[in-house]
Amino acid sequence: MSQVQMGGQQYLVLPEGSSRLLGRDAQRTNIAVAFAVANAIRTTLGPRGMDKMLVSELGDIVITNDGATILGEMNVEHPAAKIMVEIAKTQDKEVGDGTTTAVMLAGELLKRAGELLDQNVHASTIINGYKKAAMKATEYLDEVSYPVKLEDTETLEKIASISMGSKTVGVGNSKDDLAKLVVRAVRQVAEKKDGKVIVDNDFIKIEKKEGGAISDTEFINGVLIDKEIVHSNMPKKIENAKIVLLDSALEIEKTETDAKIEITSPTQMGEYLAQEEKMLRDMVDKVAKSGANVVFCQKGIDDVAQHFLAKKGIAAVRRVKKSDMDKLAKATGAKVATSLDDITATDLGYAGTVIEKKIAGEQMVFVEKCKDPKSVTIFVRAGTEHVVSEGERALRDGLGAVTSAVEVGKYVLGGGSTEMELAQNLRRFATEIGGREQLAIQAFADAIEVVPKTLAESAGMDSIDALVLLRSKHKKPDGRAYGINVYTAMVEDMKALGVIEPLKVKKQAIASASEAAEMLLRIDDMISARSRPAPSGGPGGMGGMGGMDMD
Ligand code: ADP
Ligand code: MG
Repeated sequence: MSQVQMGGQQYLVLPEGSSRLLGRDAQRTNIAVAFAVANAIRTTLGPRGMDKMLVSELGDIVITNDGATILGEMNVEHPAAKIMVEIAKTQDKEVGDGTTTAVMLAGELLKRAGELLDQNVHASTIINGYKKAAMKATEYLDEVSYPVKLEDTETLEKIASISMGSKTVGVGNSKDDLAKLVVRAVRQVAEKKDGKVIVDNDFIKIEKKEGGAISDTEFINGVLIDKEIVHSNMPKKIENAKIVLLDSALEIEKTETDAKIEITSPTQMGEYLAQEEKMLRDMVDKVAKSGANVVFCQKGIDDVAQHFLAKKGIAAVRRVKKSDMDKLAKATGAKVATSLDDITATDLGYAGTVIEKKIAGEQMVFVEKCKDPKSVTIFVRAGTEHVVSEGERALRDGLGAVTSAVEVGKYVLGGGSTEMELAQNLRRFATEIGGREQLAIQAFADAIEVVPKTLAESAGMDSIDALVLLRSKHKKPDGRAYGINVYTAMVEDMKALGVIEPLKVKKQAIASASEAAEMLLRIDDMISARSRPAPSGGPGGMGGMGGMDMD
């Protein structure tokens, strides 16, 4: 059993197998682990960053440049590492881009905090300094940002293209074409409410299929359903489609309990079947009466019902996912009917064309040419599964970036230029604050320079020379825009180059990185219970903890 010293006496508080790290040891371990995680994805930053190949226990391969995906696949165990993975997930969920930046920044903040701890600066001083620095950085970010409107397609396309640019596997040479699709999708689903732009990314569906090239990726003004039209005699192309969305089955409900139907003669059997057929025919009649020529059914469709639908020239798709039904409703304006009796002509949706196409050997149904749909699809194509998946991740980054840009209406300059500007302002702010917190704010400023530093490294530049040059540029009033051009390996004007990013992505990266760093720094006691083969009686792992707080 592990032992705790208290007033000269030893107390047995933790069950065997548990471990405990205290004070500096706990901090040191957490910092080392977090930094290791950050370091693992550092080389992927920017368009000249490298990719990683991840192989799962089952041998599945993922090739990616995406911070969140890499960390998600890494299957880390240490709690500090898990917190780092959380940063990436939060960043991904909140803004959909900037994951590598956020994690890298957290790692760098912790590393620098470790150095301060070694110089006997107390953790709470560092935490306070970091808090102030993060708050100030957010203010500075607003100051160095530029406005962008939903109508400003050109700027938005640049933002999309820059955000997708680092996933070279996924976008190939089609970066700018994909950027156009992304902006078109966001603009199509965007809605203005009280002067605010709201984009619900859930209604931009990304459907993918191997085959073709990434340049075959297309925009569909409506929804693509990965299902087939159920019956071979149904029409496969319907113009001016009037669509019913049905939440109930086109089947006769069979009882599940042990009700018995007793049939004693062949005539009875015939009657029974005729009755069943009539019920199905009635159901189909109700659909037809509404004027619909296409049915999307969330549940099943009986063979006989399929036959009747086909006879009436109505196309039908069955077992459509709930999420797709919602998208169809948004795209076509149809109301999802929960019962056949409810269907009226006003519930019907509209699509210019509903067409079944064979894609890579499988049938898919395109519901397209909708009227101002608030739900659209981007259909990703590429030669292999790996490229399609990375293409999807690139598009998600692009969608996240453009959404963030239009919702907040602001962007900043990339290539590390904004980080240089923040670092410089923070250093000035640090001297205003003075005291020991000044050291922490300076450390924050140094940490944030990890972005230009890493971009410079990825371009093959000497990172120290690059930082020195950048600092001198940013000292001048007109030097604000200077950053790393990763393609020429030169310090250049990012505004002129069109390297721009949404303000929200940068803000979120700084907020989540500093929060995570503060959280890990605050920990000075780590107790981990080991799972034991059998309960040993006595108090459990956490049961002994009451005694621990007393020292
Ligand atoms: P994240 O996961 O943080 O989004 P990325 O791999 O997408 O990481 O890299 C983003 C960084 O790369 C940003 O700092 C951005 O400014 C920079 N970047 C992107 N494109 C360029 C470019 N063409 N030139 C210089 N920097 C770029
Ligand atoms: Mg990115």
